[in-house]
Amino acid sequence: MRPSRLDPLFASLPSLPGIGPKLERLFRRLLGREDGARVIDLLFHLPTGVVDRRARPKLAETVPDTVATVRVTVDRHRPPPPNRPRAPYQIHASDETGDLILTFFNARRDYLEKLLPVGETRYVSGIIALYDGMRQMVHPDRVVSEADLASLPLVEPVYPLTEGLGVNQVRKAVQAGLAKVPELPEWQDAAWLSAHKWPSFTAALDGLHHPGDPAELRPEGAAWSRLAYDELLAGQLALALVRAHMRRPAGQATAGDGRLRQAIVEALPYSLTASQARADAEIVADLGRPLRMLRLLQGDVGSGKTVVALLAAAAVIEAGRQAALMAPTEILARQHLKTIGPLADTAGLRVALLTGRERGRERADLLDRLAAGEIDLLIGTHALFQEEVAFRDLALAIVDEQHRFGVHQRLALAQKGAAVDVLVLTATPIPRTLVLAYFGDMDVSQLREKPAGRQPVDTRAVPLDRLAEVVEAVGRAVARGERAYWVCPLIEESETGDLAAAQDRFEALRARFGSDVDLVHGRLRGAEKDAAMARFAAGETRLLVATTVIEVGVDVPEATVMVIEHAERFGLAQLHQLRGRIGRGRARSTCLLLYRAPLGETAKARIAIMRETEDGFRIAEEDLRLRGEGDVLGVRQSGMPGFRVARIEVHGALLEPARKDAQLTLARDPSLTSERGEALRHLLYLFERDEAIRLLRAG
Ligand code: ADP
Ligand code: MG
Repeated sequence: MRPSRLDPLFASLPSLPGIGPKLERLFRRLLGREDGARVIDLLFHLPTGVVDRRARPKLAETVPDTVATVRVTVDRHRPPPPNRPRAPYQIHASDETGDLILTFFNARRDYLEKLLPVGETRYVSGIIALYDGMRQMVHPDRVVSEADLASLPLVEPVYPLTEGLGVNQVRKAVQAGLAKVPELPEWQDAAWLSAHKWPSFTAALDGLHHPGDPAELRPEGAAWSRLAYDELLAGQLALALVRAHMRRPAGQATAGDGRLRQAIVEALPYSLTASQARADAEIVADLGRPLRMLRLLQGDVGSGKTVVALLAAAAVIEAGRQAALMAPTEILARQHLKTIGPLADTAGLRVALLTGRERGRERADLLDRLAAGEIDLLIGTHALFQEEVAFRDLALAIVDEQHRFGVHQRLALAQKGAAVDVLVLTATPIPRTLVLAYFGDMDVSQLREKPAGRQPVDTRAVPLDRLAEVVEAVGRAVARGERAYWVCPLIEESETGDLAAAQDRFEALRARFGSDVDLVHGRLRGAEKDAAMARFAAGETRLLVATTVIEVGVDVPEATVMVIEHAERFGLAQLHQLRGRIGRGRARSTCLLLYRAPLGETAKARIAIMRETEDGFRIAEEDLRLRGEGDVLGVRQSGMPGFRVARIEVHGALLEPARKDAQLTLARDPSLTSERGEALRHLLYLFERDEAIRLLRAG
């Protein structure tokens, strides 16, 4: 149970004064919590910068287009003339060095006469600009009298916003939220805190939302680092608790006789690469030990993880037990079935598919067979861990594309059997230093080489104004019988914008190339999406316009062209994933990164790296290095699960201490009952790693 003193932080936003249903809706959007935003979400919405009002020049010394606070005397009001009520209301003011016009649109006269009475002195703060050679300030941010000067905030935080929500509304809400922060016990080690000169959690939050100096907002500063360490420690504690829990029910040794695996390997049209064989051996060895397996199979796109997963499943099936393979999307689940199905048939494995779409009789029948042990390998989506899904004897849970699932989903699947072994497949070649952050102490197998026979992809960067040439080039490839993807980016500002962009591109290309062109996007229903993918895979359509739904996993070896429109909007990891869709067959492939000029520094660097290498591990390292300020989109799209406060590229060095801290703490106090343990429970709740606390209780 959550300590009740945290309740005000987990209350919904309308618990704050001044936030009604309308504002709440906007805040939900701003905070990315459509299902309900809480006070804590608001508090973790950290400023991205400040407005610095500390400059106090004389009017003659003001620098155009910068923020300044000036002391002026109000000379006269010039309301709009009666025949032009929409004209701005202007107020002339001055100091001993010059003049300033204060301009207001749609302002009420009585209000302005009170705010800026003629003959009085006022401090006004805002951006001063030159219009027609006149110094003007349009809608001053702040106007105060001499007496109120002390209350003028000289450094004000600036927040990411969303349409319809102004910065002052966010500031006010955050202030109201800060007032709700309760007294909290200190969960960090006192010596560690003082060695770093870090403030308390509350002081850190307060400091970030009230920066006295812009420097206090730096991610590497004391306040941000404190919160980042809190978050990393919460994550490491949760992972360590999960691991301890998973290890507790001693696993069951599952040793097959190798006959199914041999049949599969013999049926393969290729031989395993050395690293596939090694990964297979590592997994089979794990399965044969009476300990629970927690292994990560890391391999770049196209490195051939699926067959390794199938061999792992075969190993437990040989021993008369069952396996499950969970994919993040329906497309991928179906694709797994398609690749695995024929091989499984040859070896005599009974495979079935369960997604949200199997319903009624068919579904009931499938569940019966599963419970009776008549299905050996169940492939599916989230639907796999619904309550009614019961296995006769689940031995192995394989989770593909792990970063889309949370820890508790991984657990939910593992809980479908006693001491289920877990194999996690990830196509994001996460650098070693980060495996820890996301997966904790998992054993790792890596597939580092690409299957034989692959050709390097020719990657080129082309400015958008050469779109017509690109269309021609794609047309030639399609005319040669090749297949091409055309990816349109996600548009963050608008919910439907990405779809509209893809739709427009689709229509333009269809007008040019006719029925060879098809469209697939995230808002299609499952069956429609699958049908579109199937038509493309079968060659009925040859140019597939897509939003990023095709990002992961889809395998069409005949595809040789990948156009990525607005490549500058994608993160490196995502560009790499997308490019991985081509270069899978024997033909030479081309990736065209269409960008809008001029490119920013980061986007330029990303595109250069894409052209330079196809090594996913190298790309992941570079991605980490490049990710920084102003690249929110890249971060969000990189496929790394989100930390709310910690920035891995800044705070990565804190990971290892957090891991040690977590281990030491749990070694001394495995059920978190000491004074620090109790305090740490608060931390786990604050960062919502409390699913791990349930494990403590379950024992
Ligand atoms: P990913 O690791 O991205 O999931 P897949 O398992 O989908 O990769 O494999 C990509 C493609 O490579 C598939 O078409 C698969 O049949 C093929 N493949 C896998 N292993 C080998 C191999 N050792 N030699 C040649 N082709 C292989
Ligand atoms: Mg895959």
